[in-house]
Amino acid sequence: MKFDVIVSGAGPGGSKAAELLARSGLKTALVERNANWRKPCGGGLPRHVDDDFGVPEKVRENTYYARAFISADGTKLVLETEKEPGGCVVDRLVYDAYLRDTAVDCGATLFDKSTVKDVILKNGRVVGVKVRTPEGLKEMMADVVIAADGVASRIAVRSGLRAKWKPDELAKCVVAFIDGYEGPKYNHFYFFDFMGYAWIFPMSGKRANVGVGLLSSSKRSVLELFDWFLRSKYFKEMFRREKIVVKQGYPVPFSSVSGQHYGDGIMLVGDAGGFVSPVTGEGVYYALWTGKLAAETAILAYEREDFSGNTLKEYKRKLDERGIVEFLSGQLRLRDLIYSNQGRTLNLILKAANEDERFKDELRRVLFEGAKPSAEFAQKLMSFM
Ligand SMILES: Cc1cc2nc3c(=O)[nH]c(=O)nc-3n(C[C@H](O)[C@H](O)[C@H](O)COP(=O)(O)OP(=O)(O)OC[C@H]3O[C@@H](n4cnc5c(N)ncnc54)[C@H](O)[C@@H]3O)c2cc1C
Repeated sequence: MKFDVIVSGAGPGGSKAAELLARSGLKTALVERNANWRKPCGGGLPRHVDDDFGVPEKVRENTYYARAFISADGTKLVLETEKEPGGCVVDRLVYDAYLRDTAVDCGATLFDKSTVKDVILKNGRVVGVKVRTPEGLKEMMADVVIAADGVASRIAVRSGLRAKWKPDELAKCVVAFIDGYEGPKYNHFYFFDFMGYAWIFPMSGKRANVGVGLLSSSKRSVLELFDWFLRSKYFKEMFRREKIVVKQGYPVPFSSVSGQHYGDGIMLVGDAGGFVSPVTGEGVYYALWTGKLAAETAILAYEREDFSGNTLKEYKRKLDERGIVEFLSGQLRLRDLIYSNQGRTLNLILKAANEDERFKDELRRVLFEGAKPSAEFAQKLMSFM
């Protein structure tokens, strides 16, 4: 089987790439391990996802107008956006199906229940993938392969573009849908006095998405931390007679982006390339953007009839142009700052933001809108260390 482009993985990154490739008329294969899998996720989509890519009403669980940050000593900062929504919460089973269906409607061919096992190399160049299908192992060939198969992407490693993640480059997470939510309709981020945080994102009705995450290298058990959070005073204030509906564990890249994301005949997008905020764990937006930029690069490669790294390096230029790597690297520095001094730095930051509207507004824009911190803001942050 020969395609123009093979996209491995139909999450947000893969489906967005496949949609744009198919729209441009390229013969596109979208290979997915299991389309019925609910990706373990908080499902929190800040407003920029809707602004840049659209999130239709039919896939939204909840639209929120505020986020609350709670630091280790219980200091609470509520960041409000009175007029416009701060974002929305989705159920990933529904949201991913919407993105995947859109790609298929645009002409991509979906291969479900098909697991990409390896890349096929010819003279050091990626020319296809080996796929375990219900009918057995198959070889699928293409001019370009886009690795969008998430944090555990095998082909990202097999292509030689990056090494396996080290434990301190990942966060281990537990996430659940829990019924019985009685709190305000805003997203809660509860930071521990060590590197890790819990979240409560209200969905529809009395259901909320609740989870915890911490560095995989931590000796703490993420399951015990999750149970602790469910017994905490903060959680108890938000829930009455909670009932866990679905509970899953899963890792997320948590070390920001490094290394190379393209090679001869291949590009890495989304979690496969580590495009996740190491402060909030937000990754859907970056998966969509990297999927889009990789698709645009593949289309360019077709125009030039050159699928080597020489043309695919355009992907890096596009990433740099949008400032994606720079922003995520900056978030890594912010993360180190907010977790410094056993959580005391964050206590001070939140207290200061409660007393200073300008500082509070800039904090919101830096955290969620990709804004570059001003010199004054950065200086103030450093003064809390
Ligand atoms: C617990 C948790 C909470 C999170 N909360 C948020 C949040 O609230 N907001 C946010 O923006 N981000 C959040 N993230 C991050 C977000 O989930 C990811 O960044 C995002 O899903 C990345 O999209 P992707 O398309 O790169 O990969 P994924 O969404 O992981 O999709 C990869 C796809 O590839 C498929 N696949 C995997 N292996 C293969 C294979 N070998 N062959 C074929 N198909 C394969 C999978 O089935 C899947 O459909 C969270 C992550 C976790 C773990």
